[in-house]
Amino acid sequence: MSENQKPNDILSLLTADQRVQRIVDFFPVDRIAISSSFGTFSAGLLHLVTRVYPDIPVLFLDTGFHFEETLKFRDDVTSLLGLNLITIKPVMTKERLFSELGEHPYKTNPTRCCQINKVDPMDLVLTDYDLWISGIRNSQTSNRTSLSILTTNNRNQSKFHPILDWNSRQVWDYLQENHLPVHPLFEKGFTSIGCEPCTSLGTGEADDRSGRWGGDKNECGLHL
Ligand code: SF4
Repeated sequence: MSENQKPNDILSLLTADQRVQRIVDFFPVDRIAISSSFGTFSAGLLHLVTRVYPDIPVLFLDTGFHFEETLKFRDDVTSLLGLNLITIKPVMTKERLFSELGEHPYKTNPTRCCQINKVDPMDLVLTDYDLWISGIRNSQTSNRTSLSILTTNNRNQSKFHPILDWNSRQVWDYLQENHLPVHPLFEKGFTSIGCEPCTSLGTGEADDRSGRWGGDKNECGLHL
């Protein structure tokens, strides 16, 4: 049994709001961080968590490949919610990245590109925390279907997914009820938004991540 099994059993029976309130029964508040990609519906979880823990560090991975609109949305949401934003940059310079993987690393080796620009820098920062809060949901990918509300991932990091069992409609309703903004590219048809070279319109609502990596993969590796 995982060390997080018992608290997971308790948290699973609660609403998302109650889960957020109760997580400090298991982890000290000053050892908890939340990550955000400032993607389509990211403002929902950020609001849910920061209205309880206003000073919680919000980790944003600036890969250097984001849409301008994402960076603007990040700044707007940070200002709106008063977030304690921490922007994380890759350790490897772009010069070295291009020298190792070529001018278009997201085409030649997207797995390695994600590792260098996302997974490695996040793992480094997460050594400062005991718990990582993420807004991933069961319905997003096949890998996420089997995750737990509170889990230990294969990199031995404790992760908390308060809205794991929400569907897109519930996230949308939460945003509407709380008058929260959505990413500006959503109205242009983007249902899942990551780095610009690896994001396209996709096939529609049945699979809202179908526009990521041209359908070749559906996880960057952070949530594996
Ligand atoms: S999403 Fe694309 S550009 Fe961003 S780190 Fe991964 S492969 Fe590179």
